[in-house]
Amino acid sequence: MAKVPCPYCGRLVDRLVEGMCEDCYFERHPLVTLREARVLRCKYCGAVFLRGRWLRPGKGGEKELMAKVLAEKASLSGVVEDLAVREGDGGVELEVTVRGSPHPSIQPRVYTYKLKLELIYDLCISCREMLSRREVALLQIRAAPGELTDDMRKKILSIIEQELFKLKDKKIGFISNIKYIRTGLDIYTTSTNLARHLAYVIHRSFPSHVVETAKAVGVKDGRRIYHMTYLIRIATYKPGDAVKLRGRDMVVVDVDSKYVHLQNRETKEVERIPIEDIFTKEVVYLGHL
Ligand SMILES: [Zn+2]
Ligand SMILES: [Zn+2]
Repeated sequence: MAKVPCPYCGRLVDRLVEGMCEDCYFERHPLVTLREARVLRCKYCGAVFLRGRWLRPGKGGEKELMAKVLAEKASLSGVVEDLAVREGDGGVELEVTVRGSPHPSIQPRVYTYKLKLELIYDLCISCREMLSRREVALLQIRAAPGELTDDMRKKILSIIEQELFKLKDKKIGFISNIKYIRTGLDIYTTSTNLARHLAYVIHRSFPSHVVETAKAVGVKDGRRIYHMTYLIRIATYKPGDAVKLRGRDMVVVDVDSKYVHLQNRETKEVERIPIEDIFTKEVVYLGHL
């Protein structure tokens, strides 16, 4: 049989398929092509949006999920024999090995293709719901009249660490952020229960007072959502501190978990002020004697 040259590559071949050799035909008709390279992906759980719904990675992990993406987003003439997934910058590279033929008169071959998926990050429905339902509670720790010392900060953080360890098996939420500010500490938690628990444990460890405030942040399913703030004020008074109590000159003689004991500097009479009252304007700190 007379050989014919392929008009594309010049090779002499037995026959042409649609005006070209089989090699050129394979080259111009890849066994797999992406119809759509963009994929919506949930940045929290890794689910991908396919056929109008979010698919989470299953037991087969990323490879199984990407096989589903491929089946949905690619045109395929043959069967996928192998698939490798590589995460790159801003996307995923799929290395797909396909056995197939682009034309009925051409024998199947095996080729490996590299396809690039562009990931567009979003939030899937269940993650969106989970995040919107996530409670946010704040634990504010402040000291007065002095500042929160480094030792106090250390003690507070170690109390928190111990409590989190004790609670580790109870799904009580977690600390999402700790801000070190000049006047104290701001500790954000994902649960009101955790914030309240920590507030009272810290309260028991220092002469202090807790103030709870609820701020309505929205309505969900007909009920109001509140963000709770627990303000713990730690009294840093120590014996020898001079204060003015309702106009009288007093000196601190003792501080316990509930009271600050004050002695009148003139009459020498001692009276005790509950910790929560020490922060009112009736008590003015004058300095250490
Ligand atoms: Zn050719
Ligand atoms: Zn998700």
